[in-house]
Amino acid sequence: MSRTKPICVECEIELKVERCGVYVAELFQHDEKVYSITMADMHKCPGCGIKIITGFAGRSTEHHQEDLELKVRELIKRGEIVIKSHERLPKRQPEGQPDAMPAL
Ligand SMILES: [Zn+2]
Repeated sequence: MSRTKPICVECEIELKVERCGVYVAELFQHDEKVYSITMADMHKCPGCGIKIITGFAGRSTEHHQEDLELKVRELIKRGEIVIKSHERLPKRQPEGQPDAMPAL
């Protein structure tokens, strides 16, 4: 078993555990539906604050797609942290912000 020790490249310091036991919902590329849910840990850089997910549990939950979509909703309702993992960069929806950043 390999040891995971995430280091922030920018800050040159080890990331600290922010939260043990978050859920990672992996999504299909073609329809953005959940195909697996795995427990992992969230780490955070004490310098720049970047967060990453690592320390995945060996076994993921794989059921019928509808079950997993329902499970994600239940986890969120219970106050659990669910991180989505897309197979490619998702298209970000603009949140009422102008297209162009204002010049500084
Ligand atoms: Zn950092």
